[in-house]
Amino acid sequence: MSGYFSELITGSKSLLVGLGVTFKALISPVVTVQYPREKIDVTSAVRGHIDLVKDEATGTHRCMVCLSCMKVCPCQCITVQGEKREGVKGKVLTLFALDFTKCSLCGLCVESCKPKAIDFSNEYELAGFTRDEFVFDLLKRVKERA
Ligand code: SF4
Ligand code: SF4
Repeated sequence: MSGYFSELITGSKSLLVGLGVTFKALISPVVTVQYPREKIDVTSAVRGHIDLVKDEATGTHRCMVCLSCMKVCPCQCITVQGEKREGVKGKVLTLFALDFTKCSLCGLCVESCKPKAIDFSNEYELAGFTRDEFVFDLLKRVKERA
């Protein structure tokens, strides 16, 4: 009989402890959001894929088509192309493609770019069904932002 009461007391104690934990969680401030309907701002330290930086002064990119980022990339995931145009000094950027399936986010391209024309984006919502969906046209992206 004494075993019965001892089990009853232990069970009641355990129930009260459990209810205490639940009640504490109930009155604590909410720290989660209803993603994807609600989103929080990511910190500046986030490394998404690289993107061409939009130059606020000109409304476009700052790439000089020096090919430094393409040459330094250990994963060979950057393709940069440019062409000479009548009356324009230097080359005009015609293609800046990133194969993000190969990128290791090492940052060498960003470091090597003298005019600071590329930087890491804050993109974190990346999902797809094919590899081709992760080959980004960064020139098109910067034009759409411009
Ligand atoms: S992004 Fe920078 S490093 Fe790459 S080609 Fe353009 S200017 Fe050169
Ligand atoms: S972060 Fe590294 S791997 Fe990715 S594109 Fe730049 S240099 Fe290549």
